[in-house]
Amino acid sequence: MKVVVTGGGGFLGSHLCEALLRRGDTVWCLDNFSTGKPANVAHLIGDPRFRLGRADVTAAFDVSGPVDAVAHLASPASPPDYHRLPLETLSVGSRGTENALRLAQRHGARFVLASTSEAYGDPAVHPQPEDYWGNVNPVGPRSVYDEAKRYAEALSMAYRRSLDVDVGILRIFNTYGPRMRPHDGRVVSTFVRQALAGHPLTLYGDGSQTRSFCYVDDLVRGIVAMLDSTHSGPVNLGNPSERTVRQLAELVLCLTGSPSRIEHRPLPVDDPTRRCPVITRAREELRWAPVIPLEEGLRNTVAWFAGRCPPPLDGASYRAFQESVEA
Ligand code: NAD
Ligand code: UDP
Repeated sequence: MKVVVTGGGGFLGSHLCEALLRRGDTVWCLDNFSTGKPANVAHLIGDPRFRLGRADVTAAFDVSGPVDAVAHLASPASPPDYHRLPLETLSVGSRGTENALRLAQRHGARFVLASTSEAYGDPAVHPQPEDYWGNVNPVGPRSVYDEAKRYAEALSMAYRRSLDVDVGILRIFNTYGPRMRPHDGRVVSTFVRQALAGHPLTLYGDGSQTRSFCYVDDLVRGIVAMLDSTHSGPVNLGNPSERTVRQLAELVLCLTGSPSRIEHRPLPVDDPTRRCPVITRAREELRWAPVIPLEEGLRNTVAWFAGRCPPPLDGASYRAFQESVEA
């Protein structure tokens, strides 16, 4: 297949480009590097099946030759990024998505949208199945991201219904792993960076809010499965193992052996109180389920951030941590 990956120079996009090349696809990676960086895909540049183009997808674009699939990942994704780039986030979710859909339409290609669990806002239904319509504040600070993605979903379904484009929507839950930017402001990258530096871990609110963290390799397997499918979605992709943010902080401290303290900061406006995917649809339609536990994924992530191989796990402190969680 020839696959166009918008946002391919970012965290998820660079792993997706790698996975597609690994199975023999040709990949055209388009990115404006507003939140990604060429270094994320520099190691792929010698591959004759890989092309990298600097492009802002909010302007009309095309690629030469046939295209079999378009994976539309371009968008700022971490809260500090979309707060810093509010108009750009709305623009890439609306105009950028339409340009990517037009590309798919012109080439008769499969189109996969990287939407988000943020489509559910601060959910009143827990855990979240795809037929839950969500609880989003349309004028709050997160709305530039949430509503852009909700519009992108509506636009994608309109292209499917009116123009017969083979559209599939993924709702991606919090994903972590190597190549996250240390200063992207997301909780995993922030806690790991702070723990390794011996700085206090900044826990927002009382830390009782929950998230469900999926390791990047699992997530990318799900995106590839959706590219190969004809399912319209939406399909949730995420790891249903739900943790409080405080538990995450304690696990990072345990895995890094860091002496850092936990310091409380105010909870951001409209921070969702809980989030956990129902993944029955992904299991049934894509034959997909995550297999990498948080502890293992975090060890890989810590090792990547530390720029070294995974240290042997300190059995005693790990067992003590597990017991404290179970208690
Ligand atoms: P990221 O910021 O690392 O990657 C996004 C990429 O899109 C960056 O390389 C950025 O430069 C590029 N981009 C932004 N605007 C662009 C434009 N106008 N034209 C071309 N390129 C542009 O973020 P990520 O975590 O890799 O997220 C990738 C996608 O997955 C996003 O659409 C995001 O909304 C979605 N998603 C991610 C997560 C997660 O936990 N990582 C969760 C839900 C949804
Ligand atoms: N969070 C935190 N400390 C940080 C960064 C984030 O406690 O330094 C919290 C944040 O308030 C949220 C959770 O961690 O409740 C996940 O935040 P992230 O920005 O990673 O993702 P999102 O809020 O988009 O799910």
